[in-house]
Amino acid sequence: MTMDNAHGGSISSLDSLATRLSLTDDELKWREDGLTVPLLIPEYYFALIDSSDPADPLRRQVVPTRFENIPDVGEDSDPQQERSYSVTARLIHRYRNRVAFLVTDLCPMYCRHCFRRRFTGKTVGPATDTEIETAAAYIGDHLEIKEILLTGGDLLTLSDTRLERMIAIFRRYRPDLVMRLCTRTPASWPQRITDDLISVFKRNFTAPYYLMTQFNHPKELTTRSVAAVAKFVDAGIPAMNQTVLLRGVNDDADVLEELCDRLVASRIKPYYLFQGDLVTGTAHFRVPLEEGLRLEQELRRRLSGLAMPVYAVDLPQGGGKVPLSHCYLQGRDADGAWLFSTPDGELRRYPDPEVAAKHKVSETT
Ligand SMILES: *Cc1c(COP(=O)(O)O)cnc(C)c1O
Ligand code: SF4
Repeated sequence: MTMDNAHGGSISSLDSLATRLSLTDDELKWREDGLTVPLLIPEYYFALIDSSDPADPLRRQVVPTRFENIPDVGEDSDPQQERSYSVTARLIHRYRNRVAFLVTDLCPMYCRHCFRRRFTGKTVGPATDTEIETAAAYIGDHLEIKEILLTGGDLLTLSDTRLERMIAIFRRYRPDLVMRLCTRTPASWPQRITDDLISVFKRNFTAPYYLMTQFNHPKELTTRSVAAVAKFVDAGIPAMNQTVLLRGVNDDADVLEELCDRLVASRIKPYYLFQGDLVTGTAHFRVPLEEGLRLEQELRRRLSGLAMPVYAVDLPQGGGKVPLSHCYLQGRDADGAWLFSTPDGELRRYPDPEVAAKHKVSETT
């Protein structure tokens, strides 16, 4: 894999990892196969791991274990059926007004929980100019499409030159297209985010960009990663975060509260908290939905509206994303008024304005 020389090195095999960390039996018994993502940990991220703690939340995200080799019932290599929603080689059109483009399958770091593992790290490489032209032409023909998610893989593994060429092609067909830059690089390799990179977006600013980050634990919000995101925000690119709910990493109200508060303090809006997808070999990461709902309810009590992400699940068989929330609406009473429970569990009555108005009319006649 070729990448910017500012990478500063990474660990890419179990053997070299074993010289740096005292690996557990479960870690040593991992084997790479067609359904796993490769082992790749940038030195920057590795330095954030507490080597004395086998349960370190960052270690769990990047050091593979034998549990990845155990498929679970209901799992699929492509649970979102992205293949069947693909309209060109790399363009997924599942929602009417927005599309996802698989820029590249490469990442500076591979997450053990990656939901797109059917594609990620398979060394397909970046999209060719022809593939980009074909996707851009499709979007040019479908004016109902308002947003494109540039995803993968991680688009920031592309060189600045290649990235600019891609963006220019999409801009040529659709200068008005809102672009989401979906990247974990601020967490995995913040050195990649340079002033030159930001200039690529500044030069092609005919419509808004949004930076979509993936911070899963407060330990990932380092001075360097926060400064990397700040470069985007200062350039007029708002930052939004998508956290994956992961067992043993962040399935804890205190951890999620700290993460969301610190994201807001770093000018990053918590956008989604994702329930784990049913991807092959990730059962050990999935938090039971009931537990997820309990965490969501607790977060709603603790966090400001600004700091509160939407807990969501991407439904199997390409069903799409739906929000998950504790239900505050309890029903209606005999007079038709709505009954709610407050976040603290007290009951409140909300008489419907229309019902109340009708009631008044019938009283005066
Ligand atoms: C998640 C996703 C989107 C974006 O969904 P939002 O709810 O708007 O964030 C678009 N296309 C695909 C294929 C997706 O998986
Ligand atoms: S950065 Fe994203 S695409 Fe890459 S391995 Fe992690 S979750 Fe998968």
